[in-house]
Amino acid sequence: MFDRKDYISDSAWNRFLDASKNFSTPNIFIDLRTIKKNFLQLKDLFPYAYIYYAVKSNPGVPVIKLLRDLGSNFDIASRYELDMVLDLGVSPDKLSYGNTIKKAADIKYFYEKGVRMFATDSKEDLKNIAREAPGSRIYVRILVENASSADWPLSRKFGCHPDMAYDLLVLARDLGLTPYGISFHPGSQQRDIGSWNDAIAKTKYLFESLEDEENIKLSMINMGGGFPAHYIQPTNELKDYASEIYRYLHDDFGEDIPGIILEPGRSLVGDSGILTSEVVLISRKNNTALHRWVYLDTGKFNGLIETLDESIKYPVITEKDGGREGEVILAGPTCDSADIMYEDTKYRLPVDLKIGDKVYWLSTGAYTSTYASVEFNGFPPIQAYYITEEGVMDRNGNPAEPR
Ligand SMILES: *Cc1c(COP(=O)(O)O)cnc(C)c1O
Repeated sequence: MFDRKDYISDSAWNRFLDASKNFSTPNIFIDLRTIKKNFLQLKDLFPYAYIYYAVKSNPGVPVIKLLRDLGSNFDIASRYELDMVLDLGVSPDKLSYGNTIKKAADIKYFYEKGVRMFATDSKEDLKNIAREAPGSRIYVRILVENASSADWPLSRKFGCHPDMAYDLLVLARDLGLTPYGISFHPGSQQRDIGSWNDAIAKTKYLFESLEDEENIKLSMINMGGGFPAHYIQPTNELKDYASEIYRYLHDDFGEDIPGIILEPGRSLVGDSGILTSEVVLISRKNNTALHRWVYLDTGKFNGLIETLDESIKYPVITEKDGGREGEVILAGPTCDSADIMYEDTKYRLPVDLKIGDKVYWLSTGAYTSTYASVEFNGFPPIQAYYITEEGVMDRNGNPAEPR
């Protein structure tokens, strides 16, 4: 159904086959070369931006080390991510606490560790920041509409109306904090570049009105993530995102473009991963059923959570591709009937697919390896491995032995 070469080069594929050959399934292999290439490309296309890697998308130690060495900054969402990144020697002035939902005790912890940049979208949180992290830089996250064109929308839960953002930035100043900027997230895997235009226009309005009416001069726009990885629905190329976004910024801000922060997750790491699963069972629900059920040794609770509502549609290939295919329903191994990855979306797999065959899920480097249940039905969490220049590492950055 899919041509592997549309998603991964021969050399990367061979490197993967070689690195993964003795490891039992299910597993995910992450190729650091892909992440490095994506990071350098992003820097090249957005030379004026500061990149804050969204750690949650793949928090493996080898990934953090690679991006640290490439000079990246990091968007941190919890004290656990903070400890991990600081332990790897990243300086706290390269970090931002981007989660708008946080305990006062955690704000204090970040402040004690040296973090001075905080996101917010509510009065209660802002007051906690003023108390626990005095003087820090504040940026306020605004709501953007993105439900239909983002495959994994991040609306509703985060952000506030621009009018409220205005009030919060005034309050931030009055509480002794530094009003610093505006943030938004256009929605993850955002296929409509126009989403950035709407958000940048709202941002421009806030910059202007705060300066005119309150003499507050903001200096930063944090545009979040949203750039795509390569799944089965086509997207524009990153260079088109870059040129359009620059045009929107230039239209609104002219020569006076503020400091820009990007927080990519999916677009940096998504394409770097291959999840390998094994066929546990193939069956039909009645003798004349037109489609087969293919049950794999991993599923929605073990690395493939973003198939929820069939939102993210990964390219899936097998060792037997190339011959005749038939429609399948793809499901996981647990005793929960929600553990079905694709039923409405019609995937086709080879008719001679057999129990024990391998099924490869491409572009599974983002939101997979740590987005798994701990032990549902007793299945251990899927293992992630990292293909580095020094060999295969585990997620803690230690050399990995086949298991
Ligand atoms: C998850 C997240 C990101 C990363 O988004 P992608 O679409 O994966 O690039 C960036 N910023 C914030 C605040 C996030 O929560």
